Amino acid sequence: MSMFALYQHNRTPDRAEIDDALSGNLCRCTGYRPIVDACLHMHEYPEPDNDEKRLIAQLREIQRGQRLTLENAEASYHAPIALDDLAALYQQNPDAQILAGGTDVGLWVTKQLRELPAMIYLGDVVELKQIKNGTDAIEIGAAVTLTDAFAALQPHYPELGEMFRRFASVPVRNAGTLVGNIANGSPIGDAMPALIAIGARVRLRRGRDSRELELEDLYLDYMQNAMQPGEFVEAVIVPRPEAGTQLRCYKLSKRFDQDISAVCAAFALRLDGDQVADIRIALGGMAAIPKRASQTEDYLRGEPWNEFTLVTAGQKLAADFTPLSDMRASSDYRSRATANLLHRFYLETRIGDALPPAAVNVFAVTG
Ligand SMILES: Cc1cc2nc3c(=O)[nH]c(=O)nc-3n(C[C@H](O)[C@H](O)[C@H](O)COP(=O)(O)OP(=O)(O)OC[C@H]3O[C@@H](n4cnc5c(N)ncnc54)[C@H](O)[C@@H]3O)c2cc1C
Repeated sequence: MSMFALYQHNRTPDRAEIDDALSGNLCRCTGYRPIVDACLHMHEYPEPDNDEKRLIAQLREIQRGQRLTLENAEASYHAPIALDDLAALYQQNPDAQILAGGTDVGLWVTKQLRELPAMIYLGDVVELKQIKNGTDAIEIGAAVTLTDAFAALQPHYPELGEMFRRFASVPVRNAGTLVGNIANGSPIGDAMPALIAIGARVRLRRGRDSRELELEDLYLDYMQNAMQPGEFVEAVIVPRPEAGTQLRCYKLSKRFDQDISAVCAAFALRLDGDQVADIRIALGGMAAIPKRASQTEDYLRGEPWNEFTLVTAGQKLAADFTPLSDMRASSDYRSRATANLLHRFYLETRIGDALPPAAVNVFAVTG
């Protein structure tokens, strides 16, 4: 299916495009080479039938003009198409499970065998499918897929390109939403560290009321958030980059493609001369929630950005977090790796002698 999708969109892919397209397919018992060879020969097949106008017309025929409701004595499923309807419906049914792309929720059913008796699907809500490019911020609605959200953010934040590329795989990014990742709030979710480091906010909606929160304030404790019953995330608001801010996001996992992070670290630094004017450090995999390194940040502000400062910053970082040991990484590994990532960030941003990505990252694209 991944190859077929590639054939539909790009009949002459290069090796890197093929690797990306297949990154979600981990079982390759026949080996990689024949599959890649087949992809390289797709151009010999006829042009795919990509008559978008006809496809859109066909989809229009099955489009609904009103909320879909499927109900019996045990279960209910609602798919509203308007934001006000969704908000009213969820306020009246706060115990219902919100469903977006289902790439997290689906696993609760297939792996944990959970029953979900009441569901509200938000993927058909027209207003939530929008990306608004404002003068100060980019606003991404709750039904926008990860693929479309990353495409909207990448031109503003090219430094996040590797994280976007390594987030799940093409089919998962085409189904899952950015807001689903945020709302799920897993401590090892990949979007939150970067979004917190760049100062993203969320707009919450409950009935007719809406309010905004700093993204980091959404998370209270392990898988617990600040949303009230019947409240949901309407959009994430990502500020445009601030001039002079240097940003990096590092995902550490055992495999490059399609793997869950042991640690995901994001750093946003603004220098004033050789001093740290401001720094925001946000980490995933280091605590029960995605979390900022507050003590380290406090220490660094106003300090000169040099090796000496970095040694003390590393000690502060150890005081900021007491990570868990689990099958992905030990507590000690996580602490040491995070201090090393801070060091790597320093090497990439040090004054007068900053190292280029290719000098610190074997996966960096060169040339
Ligand atoms: C194979 C695979 C690989 C993956 N790889 C990664 C990865 O590399 N990095 C990573 O971070 N994640 C990964 N994930 C997890 C998942 O894809 C992401 O968390 C995704 O962004 C979830 O979005 P969704 O739209 O599918 O959410 P859903 O599964 O629909 O919902 C997730 C949760 O959020 C709630 N929710 C969704 N939208 C809203 C809203 N607007 N308001 C309130 N609550 C809401 C739901 O009720 C549910 O609790 C992976 C998943 C799979 C299956």
